[in-house]
Amino acid sequence: MALFAGWVAFPLLKTAGFAGLVASAAATTALATSTVPPVPMAKPYAANPANPPVPGEKPLLSKSDTSTPVRTVVPTRAAMPIVLDEGEDSILSALGHTPPLDLESEAPARRRVAIGRGDTLVKLMVREGVDRRIAHQAAVAIGKVHDPRRLRPGQNVTMVFRRDASGKPRLSNVRLDANVERSVVAHRRDDGGFQGEAIDHPLVADALAHRGRIDGSLFQAANAQGVPAKVTIELIKLFSFDVDFQRDIQPGDGFRLLYQAYRDANGDLAKTGDILFAELQVAGKTLPLYRFEMKDGSVEYFNDKGESVRKALLKTPVDGARLSSRFGRRRHPVLGYTKMHRGVDFAAPRGTPVVAAGDGKIEHAGRKGAYGKYIRIRHNSDFKTAYAHLRAYARGIRSGRRVRQGQVIGYVGSTGRSTGAHLHYEVLRGNRQVNPLGLKLPTGRKLNGKAKRRFFAARSELDQRYSAAIAAPVRLAAE
Ligand SMILES: [Zn+2]
Repeated sequence: MALFAGWVAFPLLKTAGFAGLVASAAATTALATSTVPPVPMAKPYAANPANPPVPGEKPLLSKSDTSTPVRTVVPTRAAMPIVLDEGEDSILSALGHTPPLDLESEAPARRRVAIGRGDTLVKLMVREGVDRRIAHQAAVAIGKVHDPRRLRPGQNVTMVFRRDASGKPRLSNVRLDANVERSVVAHRRDDGGFQGEAIDHPLVADALAHRGRIDGSLFQAANAQGVPAKVTIELIKLFSFDVDFQRDIQPGDGFRLLYQAYRDANGDLAKTGDILFAELQVAGKTLPLYRFEMKDGSVEYFNDKGESVRKALLKTPVDGARLSSRFGRRRHPVLGYTKMHRGVDFAAPRGTPVVAAGDGKIEHAGRKGAYGKYIRIRHNSDFKTAYAHLRAYARGIRSGRRVRQGQVIGYVGSTGRSTGAHLHYEVLRGNRQVNPLGLKLPTGRKLNGKAKRRFFAARSELDQRYSAAIAAPVRLAAE
């Protein structure tokens, strides 16, 4: 969703831990029971060597949690490459392997490979043993119905070989799976040439609902309920203006969620879309938000009163961060004497992306004394934000450039006067540093008049859709 390109503070989004979660998160189940079981976790946080606990962080799993029943989540087809025709090798294909060409067999042989970086269709086919001239003809036929510039690494190409009169395997057709909605095939004609054809796989729009109890982190709770990781990341971004995920989430908090889902002809989840409705119950407060399409077609999220949830500045401009030093007087770790700390520090692994807290223009991007590598962004006539001790700047980041909220501007480091990798973050109001954590940010736009009445109608419709979807029977995947 273009509105919120931001990353937010969240311990499990660290690259290593996150990658491990994606595969299992693709399954979806709507929880139909009225009592929500405690959220189970497959593995204690500390037991994962790729994602060690940060000192001082609250434990995500207590001993008593290990006895809770684990909800089994069956991955749907969406977790693996889509297999469009059910050949005998489809199971192997789904796993990303096809058997080597069996030159002794009479049956057509099938090779399925993923496009690699820098590949062209011709290159790929030649590598799989297709004659260069034939490969070129097939690629031209595909190019007539599908722009070759839309070739992407990871797209699957399936080649079917049949024996000719002399017994030699000969390419009979090749299929490119462009995306879940479209495949393109080049068929061998009787005259030896190729004919291209696009095959559309229409998807059916649906909505999926989940709810759960948060005992560790929102990411884990959503994952345990089968919410796809991509949707959870959106969920966290949407709430990052109102919730400090490091401090506000307490055991026993909860979430409710409704999002767009698209099913293929088999009824399996093919892709997900926007969040339609979401609600967090945190720290005794209930925070609902609703997707609303404005008259001009843009999409924004509003609370139940019709106030935009988007704020001018993100609370935490770095992903996977832990607040390690607050604003105020403290003993300086390097200089040894008491000194005013005019920002907040976020400890994060070296190289962690730092994002712009809000839309604005870069005023300074370069070395600045004890700050080391430093970026300052001017957001409006009132507010600026600054980011210090960076290891490096993101590509294209220099003075005068415009940046969007959530855009990566640099990477956590330890340049300048710094004891270890962290982001020193300042909010300046009228050129004076103020405490970012104590800042009361103005809310975004408020709906009025006609738009507000339209919003209230959309809100009750989404409430009803959520209730209907959450009450639907749990649908387990076909496989
Ligand atoms: Zn600092």
